[in-house]
Amino acid sequence: MRVAIASGKGGTGKTTVTASLARVWPGPLTAVDMDVEEPNLHLFLKPELAHSEQALMEVPEADESLCTACGACSEICQFKAISLLGETLLVFPEMCHGCGGCLMVCPAGALHPASRHLGEVLWGRADSAGFVMGRLRVGEAMSPPLMRAVNRRLQAMLTEEPGDVLVDAPPGVSCPAVSAVSGADLVLLVTEPTPFGLFDLRLAHQAFTPLGMPMAVVINRAGLGDEKVHDYCRRSGLPLLAEIPFDAEAASAYAQGQVLTDVLPTMRDLFKDLAAALPALAKPLREASHA
Ligand code: SF4
Ligand code: SF4
Repeated sequence: MRVAIASGKGGTGKTTVTASLARVWPGPLTAVDMDVEEPNLHLFLKPELAHSEQALMEVPEADESLCTACGACSEICQFKAISLLGETLLVFPEMCHGCGGCLMVCPAGALHPASRHLGEVLWGRADSAGFVMGRLRVGEAMSPPLMRAVNRRLQAMLTEEPGDVLVDAPPGVSCPAVSAVSGADLVLLVTEPTPFGLFDLRLAHQAFTPLGMPMAVVINRAGLGDEKVHDYCRRSGLPLLAEIPFDAEAASAYAQGQVLTDVLPTMRDLFKDLAAALPALAKPLREASHA
């Protein structure tokens, strides 16, 4: 089972939920931080990151002495990463998506593959769970290619040690967030019972619905705000699986980078119950995908 933990905006407690679930997970598990722009799951789970590798993407490099200015490369490039200005060839590697199209169509052999450094992939163990994360290079604008590298590493780890997967997705509903939840058997949407929380929950629910996977909600800082998130869940048929109370002990644990289940026995019970409730929700999709 692959569970993605997502939220319509940052700061809702998504990583707290991921870390707490990881601590009480009842079987073999790999935790993945797909928020490669601002990874912070490792700050809570404190894994031993024994391995790392640089993630690279193939981009074109030009030998202008061979270029005949035919324009085939700029015609095929959907991202304006290679173009002709008059007869001068311009390559913008930072805009390249690595599709390789220009390399294939160049009739003069004027383009050859070079590399762009995306960032690094780090992996190891957090107690009994596997752990993998990506860290985007400062200045790199595109996170999905690095997320794919993290996913490849995850698949290799699962081949060696099969088990469930918890994905800490990037916040929001942009391309990286959608990419991170794709392929999950279940998406847990973490929100707060406030007007902002409701607004962002709606956004996330609407953005992920076309992906066709089951979704459920966890309310963090329960006791704040109003009942409108509860009403929305009821009206939309979104199961509300857990409410994490807003109290000083939880806030203090979070501020100190502690996992709630490590320091608060009541949270341990709450997250064990949450973990136990997930397979039944994910089951229909898993059965369909294996039919
Ligand atoms: S590899 Fe693809 S995205 Fe990159 S410059 Fe060539 S055509 Fe454009
Ligand atoms: S396809 Fe090759 S020859 Fe044609 S403009 Fe591009 S680099 Fe030059």
